[in-house]
Amino acid sequence: LTPSQLASAHSKEYVDSVLSCKKPNGFGNFSPDVALSLPWTCGSYAAAACTALELGFNTFSPTSGFHHAHFDSGGGFCTFNGIMIAAQFARQLGATKIGIIDFDQHDSDGCREIIKKLKMDWVQLYSYGSQGPTNKVEAKKWIKDLPKVLFGFEECDLILYNAGMDCHEDDPMGGILSTAMIRQREMYVFETFHRLSIPVATSLAGGYQRDSSGAIKPILDLHDITLRECWNAIQGQKAKGA
Ligand SMILES: [Zn+2]
Repeated sequence: LTPSQLASAHSKEYVDSVLSCKKPNGFGNFSPDVALSLPWTCGSYAAAACTALELGFNTFSPTSGFHHAHFDSGGGFCTFNGIMIAAQFARQLGATKIGIIDFDQHDSDGCREIIKKLKMDWVQLYSYGSQGPTNKVEAKKWIKDLPKVLFGFEECDLILYNAGMDCHEDDPMGGILSTAMIRQREMYVFETFHRLSIPVATSLAGGYQRDSSGAIKPILDLHDITLRECWNAIQGQKAKGA
């Protein structure tokens, strides 16, 4: 993406300052490597959103680091808000209502601020970080009630799904959902929107588990569930002739 395109959800001054390493990125440093990566990560998710909307099928962007980015500041590993930039792209393509389903463990504070600041009242946001369960008992009920929450997005033309895995019970960031619950969550997301014929563009979001050798396999396995449930939903519905 160009700096102007990145500035569809940020002040141009913030975008230019971060890209020229004069202002800190979302990691709190001035790394040129991070600056160089940003047009590509945000571009990948914007492309996923546009493709999903135009072709009417689910897409996936292996990117993260978006939802804490505010209009003119970053934080929590997030520099530019690729979710809000993707929403702006989809709006330009003609989407009348866009749903952001943010199931990361942490609050979608950056998205909420940008929606308010830029008066993006055509965006519907759900943030697990502020609206989700806070203990195991609530988590069970949350999963059970999830289809109702998802059907609340039925008027959207496109869903931007932030499939965070730091809400897993083994995550060092303190999540509470079991692997089975995460699988159920992904199943509900993809089955519901497949049934509603609303395309879903997915990105990775948070997840910080490591195995004993320090490798990231545990988190890759969780992200794998997202892709598998996406595929199962599409295939299952096809098999039923829907
Ligand atoms: Zn998080």
